[in-house]
Amino acid sequence: AYNERESLFIAVNFAKEFFQQNLKTEEGQSIGLSYFKERGFDPVTIEKFDLGYALDSWDQLLVQAKKSGFEVENLLKAGLVLERENNKGNYYDRFRGRVVFPIHNLSGKPIAFGARILTQDKKQPKYINSPETAIYHKSDVLYGIYQAKKAIRQEENCYLVEGYTDVISMHMAGIENVVASSGTSLTASQIKLIKRFSDQVTVLYDGDDAGIKASLRGIDMLLEGGLNVKAVVFPPGEDPDSFARKSGKSGFQNFLKTEEKDFIHFKIDLFASEAANDPIKKAEAIRQVVLSISKIPDPIVRSVYAKESARLLAMEEDILLTELNRQILKQQ
Ligand code: ATP
Ligand code: MN
Ligand code: MN
Ligand code: MN
Repeated sequence: AYNERESLFIAVNFAKEFFQQNLKTEEGQSIGLSYFKERGFDPVTIEKFDLGYALDSWDQLLVQAKKSGFEVENLLKAGLVLERENNKGNYYDRFRGRVVFPIHNLSGKPIAFGARILTQDKKQPKYINSPETAIYHKSDVLYGIYQAKKAIRQEENCYLVEGYTDVISMHMAGIENVVASSGTSLTASQIKLIKRFSDQVTVLYDGDDAGIKASLRGIDMLLEGGLNVKAVVFPPGEDPDSFARKSGKSGFQNFLKTEEKDFIHFKIDLFASEAANDPIKKAEAIRQVVLSISKIPDPIVRSVYAKESARLLAMEEDILLTELNRQILKQQ
C-alpha cells in the first residue's frame, strides 16, 4: 500500500499522461495542438513542459482513471475531480476543454496543473489551477524550476516572470534560467527556493500597472531575502511571451541585456523621471529608493547601495543615510 502523498503523485502523473495522450486525439489535435501552434510552441517545447489537453467532456479523466483502478477519493484529494454540489456522491473533471500546463516539483514530478481556456469567454476565468493538496503547496512552488535549475546555477541568475507562457516562450528564445510566480505575489519560501540556486534575480513582470506594482513588491521582498535584484520594464501591454515572439530570439536577448537595470535605477527611472523639476516628487523618489535599500539585510551591501544612490540622485550622502536609518528603525 502507498501512503497518501505517494498515491497523489501517482494520480497526478496518470492525469499528466492522460492530458498528453489527449493531444493526439482528433479533438486534441484540432483544438489543443493547434492552439499551441498558434502561440508558436514547437513540438520539442510541448514535450519539454509536458503540455497537454483536457477534453471538452464532464468526466473523461474520471472514467479512464477508474478503469485504471484509481479510487475517486484519491482523485478528489489530488484535485483532479470535484463533487457535484446538488448530487452528492457524483463527481466530474476539474479540467475540461482547456490546454493544460503541468506544474512540476524540483525533482520533475508533476504535482498540479494550470489550465487555460481557449476562447475569449469572459464568463470563465482565463486560467484555473489545482487546489492545495498534500503534494501541492502553491506558495512553495515556482513554475518551471525543474526545467530551469541547471541553467540558473550556470548563469548565476534567475529570471522571474508572471506566467506559464512567459517561461515557455523564453525557453524557445534560448533562455532557460526562468521561473514564474504564476500570478500570485511572491512568497518568502519561493524566494528561498531561488536562493538555493542563485543569489541574483532579474524581475520581468508584465508591462502593465499590475505588473509594475507587483515588481515593486517583489523587488523589496527579494532584497529582504538577501538577493541581488535587477528588473526590466516591458513596453506597455507586453509581457515576456508576447515580446519574445515579436522581437525574435536575438532581438529579445539583446533587449534584456540593454534594458536590465539594478533595482536602484529601476526605481529612480520609475519615480524620478518626471521629478527633475519638482522638489516634492524628487523627495518622494528618494524616499522610495531608500525604502528598498532599507530592506537589504547585509549592512555592507546596504551602505554600498546608499553611496551609489546618493550619487545618482545628486544628494548629500549624510542626508540619505539619516533617512535610511530612520526607515530601518521604523521597521524594527
Ligand atoms: P496568456 O499569455 O496565456 O494570456 P499570461 O501568463 O500572460 O497568459 P496574465 O494575465 O499575465 O496571463 O497572468 C499571469 C499568470 O497569472 C498566469 O500565467 C496564471 O498563472 C495566473 N493567472 C492569470 N489569470 C488567472 C486566473 N483567472 N486565475 C488564476 N490564475 C490566473
Ligand atoms: Mn499580467
Ligand atoms: Mn502576462
Ligand atoms: Mn501573456
